[in-house]
Amino acid sequence: MRTNTSILMMQLSISIMNCSIMATVDDLDYQYLHVLPPRWTLCWTLAKKKVIWRIYGAQTTEQGNYSVFQVKDVRSMLDEAFLPKMEVPTRWIKSIPIKVNVFAWKLYLDRLPTRSNLSRRNVSLPSLACPLCDHVLEDSSHLFFGCSVAKDIQKLICRWWNLDVHPYESYEDWLSWFKSIRLGSKTKEVLEGVFYVSWWSLWNFRNQFLFASPIPRKDAIFDNIVLRSFYWCVARCNRTLNWVSWLQHPFLIPL
Ligand SMILES: [Zn+2]
Repeated sequence: MRTNTSILMMQLSISIMNCSIMATVDDLDYQYLHVLPPRWTLCWTLAKKKVIWRIYGAQTTEQGNYSVFQVKDVRSMLDEAFLPKMEVPTRWIKSIPIKVNVFAWKLYLDRLPTRSNLSRRNVSLPSLACPLCDHVLEDSSHLFFGCSVAKDIQKLICRWWNLDVHPYESYEDWLSWFKSIRLGSKTKEVLEGVFYVSWWSLWNFRNQFLFASPIPRKDAIFDNIVLRSFYWCVARCNRTLNWVSWLQHPFLIPL
């Protein structure tokens, strides 16, 4: 029976950073478990803070003490354990779908499964080179900012939005440049959404280039960016946008 006790304790002991979920077995005797509580205790504690829940005996759900439990404690614990420490606040653009915002966030965190990142996780790959130019290691900075395909798209977006083309090679470069752009806040937010859509479209193009048949056309990427960002903006900004204005001078559209 003592052997079973130690096994149970090992199975239930989980530590996340400085927090812990821990089972303490006081006296494990299955024969009388339902008779005299507490035969065992299960508690979840935040280190140096309060116990956030505790369960006694066999009647766990009825006898648990949830009076000090708060959902925000669990959320804080998980955020502390899993979220990276951010130097800038989350950038969330309402004119584009959640999936594209999440994609841009992953790009910022360098969490996309590029060949460089897969290789770091010991995934065996036939090549680490960028599939679009077959020239340089495929990491996030190259694929979305340094690759010739990415630069062509950047130029087209800048021409479309009447902006000077600025050479940037990474997300940090792009963000620094983007912050320097002088536009109204709402218009600038739409432009940021356009860039997010461009990264999302480029990633889709890269995946189709690798895995789809027939291979997609490179010159269709920009058309897709203009079209998708228009429809998403119309759907989410609660305004009627004029397609011709969107094509010709999106930076002048009143938002
Ligand atoms: Zn490339």
